[in-house]
Amino acid sequence: MSDAFQRLLDATIDHLERLREQGARQVPVAPETLAALRQAPVRPNTKKHAPTPSGLPVAERVAARPALVGGEASPLNPTSVSPSLPSGTPDGPGGRLPLDPNRVPAPGQTTAALRALQARVQSCTKCPHLADSRRNVVFGVGNPEARLMFVGEAPGADEDLQGEPFVGRAGQLLTRIIEAMGLERSQVYIGNVLKCRPDTPGQAAGNRKPTPTEMITCLPYLEEQIGIIRPEVLVALGLTAVEGLLGKQAAATPMGRMRGRWLEFRGIPLMVTYHPAYLLRNQHLGEKRKVWEDMLLVMERLGLPISEKQRGFFLKAMGQ
Ligand code: SF4
Repeated sequence: MSDAFQRLLDATIDHLERLREQGARQVPVAPETLAALRQAPVRPNTKKHAPTPSGLPVAERVAARPALVGGEASPLNPTSVSPSLPSGTPDGPGGRLPLDPNRVPAPGQTTAALRALQARVQSCTKCPHLADSRRNVVFGVGNPEARLMFVGEAPGADEDLQGEPFVGRAGQLLTRIIEAMGLERSQVYIGNVLKCRPDTPGQAAGNRKPTPTEMITCLPYLEEQIGIIRPEVLVALGLTAVEGLLGKQAAATPMGRMRGRWLEFRGIPLMVTYHPAYLLRNQHLGEKRKVWEDMLLVMERLGLPISEKQRGFFLKAMGQ
């Protein structure tokens, strides 16, 4: 692919990103434009993790953009960016995860691929202020072959200290939720959008929400993590995690409207629910039941057995 075409492609992707942020889901494209795009040579994908100016490989950036109406195979369509993916398989177009096939680990290589990614993240200084203030990079924890992955926003003080996500009070509650689902914490995977604790200069304690820039900077690591683990279901814990995954506009929807229904991240079913820290602040049984109902949907999606007792959690105490 020529440099000129690469620049045109990057500019087009940036334009589509802006449209998406403005709420566009479809972009009309004239047939002759599509035809011209199809004539552009596709660069053989020989380079792993080839970065674009935004830090994301083209296939992933395109996958996040508004759909092109009538967009058959073209350089702007993942179907042509990943031509070697057979359709109709979980990895194929319209399948689970439209990622660069070079980034999908071979069977049995998941742990090694995660370790290699972790080694890169460990020395990351893309956010110099966070690299300076962190005690540990909090990469993620759990089963590299997990069918279920939870995603939070960022490490807090406890997590920064221990280098593991969700180990504080909210983390302990998350563990109880996982166990109530009939699973062990070690069976799922837990990660955050941000791998370093947001700094709080001048404050001895407390946490702050990650900035959009911090989340955008760190998101490629999470995307790569998800691409390696390839969970069947993702659960986003709280609206900040939603913002990190799906953008600011998606996170503008109130949690009450977003939770309890299936969204998608890179072709993977995504359930949004309240962050466990919210449940610690709000002990109302009705709120706990909402999170539990979201988890029941996740269990159903994964085909996990659900007992009558599990179905009824909190209802009796709520007088229902
Ligand atoms: S938050 Fe992410 S991108 Fe920023 S320094 Fe840490 S690992 Fe790197």
